Amino acid sequence: MTDKQRANWMLEQPHGDLIDGLARLGVRPVDVDIVINTHLHGDHCSGNTEFNDDKTSVRPTFPNARYVVQRREYEDAMRPNERTRATYLLPNYAPLVESGQMELLDGDTEIAPGIFGVIAPGHTPAMMVIRFESGGQHALFVTDLSSYAIHFERLGWMTAYDVEPLVTLESKRHWRKWALETGALLLFQHDPFMRAGRYVSENTIEPIDAEYA
Ligand SMILES: [Zn+2]
Repeated sequence: MTDKQRANWMLEQPHGDLIDGLARLGVRPVDVDIVINTHLHGDHCSGNTEFNDDKTSVRPTFPNARYVVQRREYEDAMRPNERTRATYLLPNYAPLVESGQMELLDGDTEIAPGIFGVIAPGHTPAMMVIRFESGGQHALFVTDLSSYAIHFERLGWMTAYDVEPLVTLESKRHWRKWALETGALLLFQHDPFMRAGRYVSENTIEPIDAEYA
């Protein structure tokens, strides 16, 4: 990466990287058996691969894992345009698809028992949210359907990164209704102030204390 890219991506993390976080949970990279890429934006999948020792090529960070992403997302990521190319970085995913370690999904899929990848278009045309169902309880890994909790609370608010904002609006309309009906736990990936919450009434999310590794 160039110096500018390194600065933009803020690669120096005070609490370490993905591997450090997993280690704090007692998980080693070789233990991971499934890696779900909700979409292929660089801030969501750059942990997929790491440099080989010679620093000229990459290898899977999780050697024993099956990686999954939507086929349409992969196709968009392989043909970025002037609007999307800054975030679609081939070494994050192309080698995994070429080696057969990344599986391309065609539509909504139960990836593991009770864990569903569901296309929620707008941010990208084939981004998945991840829905969890267990013992009658529901949760949603919201990913960039709402980068911050406020984007879930306010139907008309969305980030400038969305390639189809009006489609995002309809996706959010659908998932807000679902969240209200199910009382689902919502997990917000980017929000520095609210990591989890419940959508309890029109335009209101109640925060839930949560700690990330
Ligand atoms: Zn994104």
